[in-house]
Formats: sequence, C-alpha cells, structure tokens
Amino acid sequence: MSGSKARTQAIERVTDHQPPATFFSLTDAPGEVFGFNVFTKAVMQKRLPKPIFKSVIATIEQSKPLDPAVADIVASAMKDWALEKGATHYAHVFYPLTGLTAEKHDSFFEPGDDGGSIAEFAGKTLTQGEPDASSFPNGGLRATFEARGYTGWDVTSPAYILENPNGNTLCIPTVFVSMTGEALDHKTPLLRSQQAMAAQAERVLKLFGHAKPGAVVSFAGAEQEYFLIDRSFVLARPDLLNSGRTLFGAKPPKGQEFDDHYFGAIPDRVLAYMLDCERELFKLGIPAKTRHNEVAPGQFEIAPMFERSNVATDHQQLLMVVLKKVAHLHGMECLFHEKPFEGINGSGKHVNFSLGNATEGNLLLPGDNPHDNAQFLVFCAAVIRSVHKFGGLLRASVASATNDHRLGANEAPPAIISIFLGDQLTDVFDQIAKGGATMSKDKGTIIIGADTLPVLPTDPGDRNRTSPFAFTGNRFEFRAPGSLQSIAGPMVTINTILAEALDHIATEIEASLDAGIGFDEAIQKILQAIITDHGAVVFNGDGYSDDWQVEAAARGLPNLRTTLDALPELVSPEALELFSHYGVFSDREMHSRYEIAMEQYALSIGVEARSTLEMATTVILPAAIRYQTELATNIASLKAIDVEADTTDLEGLSVHIKALRAGIAGLKGALAHDSATSTEEEAAHAGKELLPAMAAVRGPADELETLVADDLWPLPTYQEMLFIL
Ligand code: ADP
Ligand code: MG
Repeated sequence: MSGSKARTQAIERVTDHQPPATFFSLTDAPGEVFGFNVFTKAVMQKRLPKPIFKSVIATIEQSKPLDPAVADIVASAMKDWALEKGATHYAHVFYPLTGLTAEKHDSFFEPGDDGGSIAEFAGKTLTQGEPDASSFPNGGLRATFEARGYTGWDVTSPAYILENPNGNTLCIPTVFVSMTGEALDHKTPLLRSQQAMAAQAERVLKLFGHAKPGAVVSFAGAEQEYFLIDRSFVLARPDLLNSGRTLFGAKPPKGQEFDDHYFGAIPDRVLAYMLDCERELFKLGIPAKTRHNEVAPGQFEIAPMFERSNVATDHQQLLMVVLKKVAHLHGMECLFHEKPFEGINGSGKHVNFSLGNATEGNLLLPGDNPHDNAQFLVFCAAVIRSVHKFGGLLRASVASATNDHRLGANEAPPAIISIFLGDQLTDVFDQIAKGGATMSKDKGTIIIGADTLPVLPTDPGDRNRTSPFAFTGNRFEFRAPGSLQSIAGPMVTINTILAEALDHIATEIEASLDAGIGFDEAIQKILQAIITDHGAVVFNGDGYSDDWQVEAAARGLPNLRTTLDALPELVSPEALELFSHYGVFSDREMHSRYEIAMEQYALSIGVEARSTLEMATTVILPAAIRYQTELATNIASLKAIDVEADTTDLEGLSVHIKALRAGIAGLKGALAHDSATSTEEEAAHAGKELLPAMAAVRGPADELETLVADDLWPLPTYQEMLFIL
C-alpha cells in the first residue's frame, strides 16, 4: 500500500465503511412508508372537526387568511399526533439567507401544578415563534435593539416529524421576518411572488373565457446532483471539511473522459445508501423518483417528483439534510458543492418549473385544440419576454462564490441566459413573427386561434443540455442554479418576472379588445409583438461554443461571468421597480439581500483563502521539503563516494517549491491587506485579489503532488477520493 500513513489509514477505513447487509432490507413497502411522518391532509381530515378541516384547506388551497380560532384546535391535534409519534420537542423551521435550514427546538413539556409535567402546545405557539436569531444575516434590516426575528407558521407546507434515535421532533415550516414584517428568509418572498404571479395568470385566464379560474400555482421539481466520497478521506482533507471543495489536487490519470460512469450500474454501497435515503425521504412525504449516476466518477443525481414550488423548496432543503445525514450513517460524505474537484464535472440543481391550476391543469402543456394552443403560446411567450427582459436578474438569482466555479465551465450552462425552445416551437414562433404582420394566412403561416399547432412532443428528444433555460415539452428547466443553493431564489425570480410578463400581456389584450379588435387577432398581435421584441433570447445552438459568446453580445444579451458582475442586477432600478411593484420585496429588503449576498461571497472566499494558506504552509510545503531533503541527501551521499549524481529531479522540484513559497507569500499579503471599508469592497477584494492569489498557491502545489514521493504525500488524492468507494 502506497501513500503516507494518514492516507493509508484513510484508505483502510473505507473497507470498514462498507454497509452491513441489513442496510439492504427495505421491509416496508414504499406505499406504506410514504408520508408516514407528515401531518398530511388525510391526517388532518381524520383528526380535525369538519369545519376546522375545511377552513385549513381553504387557507392551503385558496390562500384564504387563517382564522386564529382554528389555530388552537389545529395545534392541539398536531401535538397529540406528534406525541403519538414519539416527539418530545417541536421546532419552528426557517430558511435564513445563509441558504441553510435553521431550527429552534422547544420542549412540549412544561412543569404542571402537581410537580409532574404536562404537554402544552397552544395555537399561538404553533403560529408564531421568537427564535433568538440575532446572528442570522439581515443586511441592515434589524438594528440591534430590535434584533429579534419572528417565525410564522406557513400553513401551506405540511408539518413533519424528524426522527432521531434519542427522541423525535415535530417540525413546523415557518417564515422568518423582522419585527416590522420585513423578510429575513427565503420563504416569505417565495409566498409573496407566488401570489403576484397567480393574480396575473388568473387575469389572463379570464380573458381566455375562464370565468372562475382555480388558483394558479407554480410547480417546481429540482434535480439534485451530488458527489459521494468515503468520509475518512474528508477527515483527512481540511479543505473539504472547511469549504466543501478541494483547494488542492492534481488531475488523476483517469478522469471522466470515458464517460463510463454516466448512467452506469450504481455501485452496491451507493445503492444501499440511496435506498436508505429514499425510505427516509418517503417517510417525510418527499416523492424521490429517479436516481442515477452522473457524468463524473462518484457523482449521482436524485430527482423528486415536482410539487407546488413552496412545498418543493422546503422539501428540497430537507432532502439535502437527509442526504447528508444518511451519508454519515454509511461512512460517506455527500458533497453538495458546485465544484468539489477541479477538472471534474461540477454539480447543478436543475429547477424544472411550470404553472397551472385545478381547472386548466399545466398551462405550459401544448393542447389538442386551437384555443388551448393559443393559451399555451401566450404562457410560453410570457416566459420568453420575462427571461429576455430580466435575464440579468435570473443570473443574479444563481450567483454565489461556489457556483462561479461551475457556470460557464463548458459542462454547465454559460453565464449568458438564453432560452432553448426546440426546433418545432421555434418554428411556430417564427411563423407568428412573420405572419402576424398582415394578418393574412399565407401558406404555412399560423393564425393563432384558427389553426391547430403541429403536435409538439411532450418529451422532445432534441434536448439541448447546453442551454440555461430550456423548454422540455411541458415545463421549462432552469439549469443554472447551483447544487448547494436553495431553489427559493430562482423560484422567486421566475414567479415575479412571470407576473410582470402576464400583467403586460393581459393589459395589452384588454387594450386591444377595448379598441374593438377581435380576440384571436388580439392574441396574434401580442404574440407577434413579444416574439419580435424578445425573440433575441431564443437560442437553440451550442451554448458552450465560443461563437455563442460573440453572437450573444451582438444580440445584446448580458454575459455576467462572475458573482461580482451579477449581483448588482439585484439593485438595478428595473429590479427594484419590479419587485416593489409586485409586492415581493421593498427597496430596503432588496438592498439587504444584495448586501448579504456580497457578504456571503466575501466570507466564503475568505474561508477558502485562509484554508489554502494553512494547508500550503503546514501540509504541502513540509512534504515537499522532506522530499527535497531526501533528494539532496541522496546527491550528497553519491558525491561523497565519487559517484556522479543526477540533480535534475532536485532542480525540477526546487523550482516548484520556490513558486509555492512565492505563492504563499502573495496570499499572505493579500489576506493581510484589509483596507475594505464596505461589503462591496470586501467582496471585490475576495474576487479580484484572493482568488488569483489562491490560484498562485495551488498551481505549484499541484505540480509538487506529481513529483513528491507518494509515501510522503499527505493528502488523499483525486484518484483515491473519486474511485475508492
Ligand atoms: P431530466 O434529467 O431528463 O431532465 P428527470 O426525470 O431527471 O429529467 O427530472 C425531471 C424533473 O422535472 C423531475 O423533478 C420532475 O418531477 C420534474 N417535472 C416534470 N414535469 C414537470 C412539470 N410539469 N412542472 C415542474 N416540474 C416537472
Ligand atoms: Mg435535467
């Protein structure tokens, strides 16, 4: 066995981590397990008096305000159910702007008069909480004297039990706001944006003759990519522990060039892990559906069935928690970082989204008759307009220090936001663009409302994986979100920009009708205007090519390469106007988000820079010096007995050691430079000074990895981490 002692031990431990046979026994049928730990509608129906149940359902399904009298009764039923499930505590779960999930646990039990204890859970405890959350980022929204944040029950996302061998917890999804009601979390704006989008979509549906359209909601289904590696390697790598990615590491001799991992057989150890994850997810009512290997070695994907975007977002956060937890039980680490290994494919989180309601179903599904097709095209056109008009904002919604390593890296979508429609749908819009001008029905020209669309395949084979925003038959797939991030930000953006586009469309159609123009013609007119004004965002070609960068620039599409370039979009006059107009964010809230995103960017790079410095100084340089000494000793002893000594290896090695020392000095200097007076300056310093300084350390360090004797190399290698599982 080669490798340093620490590495050898890490590799040996991998054998201990193989799953015991019991992991394979999935005794309960998935159907029985599903939703086992969820306070579902069915549970409520069984446990709540009929009028109370009806009232809760009206709140969930029609966004009716929650009656406070109802809360007490629901709380009591929820408590009884939770106690029966072995819960001892309850927690308000919220989603602060760190992107993580936060929980504050309280015991159900309070001392009773008789010296015993009684289980208490009143309506107001269910609906409102006051976590001591002063250390969550707030971007200046909370002065310290009012540092409190409040959590409020989100009735639309079901409560659930989180199991732990030492006691279970009832978890209640909540919003997290300041005393003045300003959003401090990801959920509040998601709920607001959903409402804004629904109002405008319903307006459009009414114009299409649906007198009483059901409440429109947006749906999201997120495909989560992740890496699995043995946990002992992580414990031997301070970079993985600190920042979730390797800050050093030479390319392995065999990478992913054979594509032999993609959709290959899932290794037994991983399959055992996936089965355990799925069972846990099922219990929590999370409909995990597909699983497969991804492109890179050690990389996998899990995709739950789509749900309402609010519930899907909560479930997505929970899914990440479950995947990490179960990985530890299996002696593995689940890495959600967008780029844990340089030179190896990164991980994304494709967000599939659609919108619809109970009466019309999926509004992005092409229909069977001209009327339905016209409606479908209008909603499609709304997406085209919104993505063109607010592409920069969409880019900003996925901006983070970690996702910067992935976007535009020729394996992930470019930073340019464009739409892929597929040949057929593009053709339809091309015809609309041409034909509408004269309103004449030339040969092959489509007049909406009169003709039927060609049948569009709901699952087109010509999927374009290089597009950041692709129509995939009955939904759009936004491929730029990073694997680590919450899907809330992208969904808030999508909902809000769609609200704007649908508002515009409804207003235009109404104006046409008022001017005496017929309905079909009014539709034709708005579709034509949208495709003429916003068609530049449609691109079906290769998004990875250099040509596209040039062409996109000519089309006037923004190319915001880094987080530093993208974040200012959040506070552009257009963005501020958009979000405040639709009641999603006030200007103050928007500025606070911008501030926090900048701060997170600077913090995250800061941690990496300090890790890089420490590892280079205390782990890598010493190993290189030891080997240098060995070579020098060898030369000296050969010379002593008059044997000709070859000094090439020593010289080669010494060049890189020198470069490493220079890199270390440079990084130290960059870290010491601390003249930033604002968050923006700090972020700029991180992106423009620290990142290049880190690269100047990594370059020579990775060279040294290929030169230093293997038994002296202290860090688990890419080869080991990616291929030994
Ligand atoms: P692929 O990898 O081919 O893109 P997957 O089957 O892995 O497809 O994932 C597709 C995702 O899209 C799933 O999460 C699925 O639930 C979701 N999805 C399917 N239809 C819709 C829809 N109408 N709206 C939103 N999401 C959808
Ligand atoms: Mg996909």
